[in-house]
Amino acid sequence: MKYCLDCDWSQNAADEPSQRNRSQAAIDHHVETGHTIDSTESLVRPMTPDVDGEVFVRDLVPSRD
Ligand SMILES: [Zn+2]
Repeated sequence: MKYCLDCDWSQNAADEPSQRNRSQAAIDHHVETGHTIDSTESLVRPMTPDVDGEVFVRDLVPSRD
């Protein structure tokens, strides 16, 4: 699926079976809004834990201590 990093916009195979049309829809959304589109092989938007973003990133970075 393709999804927007700035709002709830998304398109997956259930919404639009055509890969070409999904790509075009993503481009249209970017052009119209200036939002950033990302994509994933998953059918659902990647979810992050409901924690502060900075803490989440820190948890993913290996400690160098
Ligand atoms: Zn958007």
